[in-house]
Amino acid sequence: MKRFLSLLMAIVMLSMCFGLVACDDGERKILINGENLAEYTVVIPEGCDTITQYASENFIFLVKEALGIELPVVTDATSPTEKEILIGETNRPESKTAVELKNGEYLLFTSGEKIVMKGYGIYVGGACGDFVNIHIKPKLNTNSNKIKIDSLPDKPVACEFKFTSSYKNVILMIGDGMGKQHIKMAEVNGLGEFVGRSFPYNGSVTTASLSVLEEEIGWTDSAAAATAMATGHKTYNAYLGLDGNGDTLLNVRELARSKGAKTAVVTTDVITGGTPAGFLCHHNNRRDTEILQSQIDEIIANNGIDYIKGSVGNDLTKETKSALETISAEDSQFFIMIEEAYIDKYSEAHEYINTINAVKRFNDSIIYAAEFVLCHPDTALIVTADHETGQLTPNLNMGSKYEFKTYHHTNLNVSVFAMGPGTEIFNGTTVDNTDIAKFTALAYSNEAFGDSKDY
Ligand SMILES: [Zn+2]
Repeated sequence: MKRFLSLLMAIVMLSMCFGLVACDDGERKILINGENLAEYTVVIPEGCDTITQYASENFIFLVKEALGIELPVVTDATSPTEKEILIGETNRPESKTAVELKNGEYLLFTSGEKIVMKGYGIYVGGACGDFVNIHIKPKLNTNSNKIKIDSLPDKPVACEFKFTSSYKNVILMIGDGMGKQHIKMAEVNGLGEFVGRSFPYNGSVTTASLSVLEEEIGWTDSAAAATAMATGHKTYNAYLGLDGNGDTLLNVRELARSKGAKTAVVTTDVITGGTPAGFLCHHNNRRDTEILQSQIDEIIANNGIDYIKGSVGNDLTKETKSALETISAEDSQFFIMIEEAYIDKYSEAHEYINTINAVKRFNDSIIYAAEFVLCHPDTALIVTADHETGQLTPNLNMGSKYEFKTYHHTNLNVSVFAMGPGTEIFNGTTVDNTDIAKFTALAYSNEAFGDSKDY
């Protein structure tokens, strides 16, 4: 009997191999030129730059979310194995190519059983994203458990990364007090190029609040600026989520939430700080911390927000990653505001090194977000500031080569750097901070948002 059973088994197995019986073990397999994707290992260069590191982290998350496969990752200090996905300039011979890439381009190709992903600057994430979003995802809607992918080129050919035609999600990143010169000071003091400069679009933003427009004071505070970027309305300094008459305004986070999107607020400041509170609260005095905290507690108690974290310590990037993974899970629509608050705080205290380090910390989290967006091309990423702080001015005699001229905010225009669908509207022009809310709102509703004035 035992012999008969094993004979039967052998016949069944043999039949499966010849396709006589459906070879369906219930597990979906994604086959890249016949090789099972689940058997691959991701390889990154030992001690690689943060762009490659964050591209690989986003790739691994995307593959897990979109395909249900958890890929292991090693550095190229390990011995080569057969099935490797090579991200960035690894020491594997397959990573060496003579193709010169231009800004916005990437390489994605197979070399034997290896899959090679490289890119110009941040666009290594474009190779990672397009591998899943263009080559694999459209083929998932078949009944077969064998998804055959044979569309990858077998030699290095430059591809131009393209976003989708419209945006479904918005990531808004605010460097509190980060004027144009703050970015330059960090760049000449060890940062290298600020990552926003490699985004396809950049422009300027006016920041005046109602208090400035009515000539009560020369600069906006963080509360009025955050209210403008969150609601599309100008208001007075110290006001949060209220217009100049004290009437409650809907903010983009609440709008997104009302349309079913997941929302998040992440900041290095306390959660009741002016910028985060602009996306959470409605009150006429930013200094009433207890009232703001009770409003925030109520949002949390009512499950009105999906991820909220204030007083983030040194690792803003880790929180950025954690928040983005939470709110984008299961392909959910989302909105997130991420703030680096200490550029402003250190600028007010004229602490040069700390200001520089705060810009560097912000830059690191922006790199993570940029690689995320390249893996989620229906997402708009906007990096800007609420106002300039300290009238930072070039001074070659200073150690930092820059000098603060005041201890308060100024009315100087700030920068906006943008990538993703629709963000060309920010390019080579000056927009108002209220326009950022109006742009953001379009992801969640076609109805008019914010006031109808041009500032
Ligand atoms: Zn501010």
